[in-house]
Formats: sequence, C-alpha cells, structure tokens
Amino acid sequence: MNNKSKINRNAPCWCGSQKKYKQCHFEFDETLKSLSLQGYPIPNRSLIKTKEDLAGIKKSCQLTKQILDDLNAIIKPGITTNEIDQWVYETTIKHNAIPAPLNYKGFPKSICTSINEVVCHGIPEDRVLIEGDILNVDVTCIINGYYGDSCRMYPIGKISDKASHLINITKECLEESIKNLKPFDPINKIGDTISEIAARESYSVVKIFGGHGTGKKFHEDPFIFHYKKKEKLMICAPGMVFTIEPMINEGNADCIILEDNWTAVTKDNSLSAQWEHTVYVNENSIEILT
Ligand SMILES: [Zn+2]
Repeated sequence: MNNKSKINRNAPCWCGSQKKYKQCHFEFDETLKSLSLQGYPIPNRSLIKTKEDLAGIKKSCQLTKQILDDLNAIIKPGITTNEIDQWVYETTIKHNAIPAPLNYKGFPKSICTSINEVVCHGIPEDRVLIEGDILNVDVTCIINGYYGDSCRMYPIGKISDKASHLINITKECLEESIKNLKPFDPINKIGDTISEIAARESYSVVKIFGGHGTGKKFHEDPFIFHYKKKEKLMICAPGMVFTIEPMINEGNADCIILEDNWTAVTKDNSLSAQWEHTVYVNENSIEILT
C-alpha cells in the first residue's frame, strides 16, 4: 500500500493493529504529509514495523548484545580473530540463531573483525592480537528471520592514550547522535551531530559506508549518513528500525578496499574506530535495541 491511498477514518488502520485508523496512524500520516510538503522524503509504510516485527527484532538484538558483552572476557592479547569468530559462530548456533555475515555476498566468516587501521569489514584470520591493538567486532544475528546488528571496540591489553581517545570519541559520536535525534526529525540530524563531534577533535568521518534500515532484511532503507548532508533526508518516523554506526578516522576520511574485496583500511594508515547500535524509533524517543 502506498502512502497516498485514502483510508476512511473509521476503517481498520493500515498498520495491522486492528484499531480504527483515526485512533491509530491518522495523526502519524498527517504529520508525515506536512513534512513531505516541506520537502522531506518520508518513509514508505513497509519500513514501519509491526508489533510482531519489533518483538522479533528485539529478540535478535538481545542475542547480539549478549555476544558482544561476553566477548569482553574472551578478547585478550594472544587470541586470534579466527578464534573469536569460531566462538561467536558456536554461540550463535547454540541459541538457534544464524550469523548473518556468514556467506553474505560471499563473506567467509561469521563476524567482521577490524584491527587498528582497518575501518570495517575485516575478515577473521590467524593473526594474533597483541597488546596495544584496537579491535572492532561487528556481530549480526538472525532469529526467526529477524536481524540484530551491533558492533563495539575492544582494546587489546594496554593501549595508547591516542587510541583510547579515538575509541571514546567515536562512542560519544554514536551516543550523542542517538540522544539528539527525536521522532519525526530528518535523519540529517545524525550526521550533523557526528560531524560536529569529530570536527571538534580534528578527526574525520568515513563517508563511503553508512548505517541502514534493518528488520527482515540485513540492509533496507533508509541509508544513514554519518556526515552532514545539505539535501533533505528521510524523516525518522515512529516504527522504523535502523543502525547508526559511525566510523571515525584519526587522519583522513579516505579508505581503500583491499584485494579480498571486503577489508576497508584508511588510505593514510591512521587508526579507525567504530561503534554501532540498532535503534527503534518509538513514539517519544529513540530506543537502543542492542
Ligand atoms: Zn496504525
């Protein structure tokens, strides 16, 4: 159903709630209509999750969060990223879930592990983690067809102050972008917040990757820009689920994709960090699901 179809105010709402339209999404539609007249793209109704969808996504996000929590005790100097991958694979399967990255467009492993100058999409291997490394682990679980996507940074033993600062600021970028965003804001706000914090620290924001809508698909609309965009971007309406996952570089924003066609590294070899949450836009606020 497209957003333009007229519904009788007393008819059942298009969202499947069984409530009358006037008591359910009528005001929602009116608000979006006025924002559309102001030139903002508005979400297609297929991006508005049902209660059932939300329950499914929450369950999957919960397992992803648990795995990332448990990795704190596992990741230490001397372990390889292959061993971390194997642990995540076994844990995911044990919970009757599927690791989404495995075989996704040919990706060979269950998680992405991105070390130091690797921006994202690093492939687990036999490289041993050593004191001073910084590691990003990106986990996505699928339960009953629903995706839960999140990533965090793990310092390996004692790390340098500058590495630690980059990790902290990147986390601040994610947290503040969520705090500053309200239902019915354009998603421009996310990139505005992240750009301002990164600029304050003379860091740069990676542009070639962004966040994404998610739910029954790994990636769906909207694309989430982590940097300032002049054009008006989509309104984040209650019912939407998407990821915010800023990648912040110590140096230049430019990236190179290695010959494996996955691993993205900083062009200037500077450190890069990333934090990610899957969020749900509820009636009053942005809810973190991971
Ligand atoms: Zn409704």
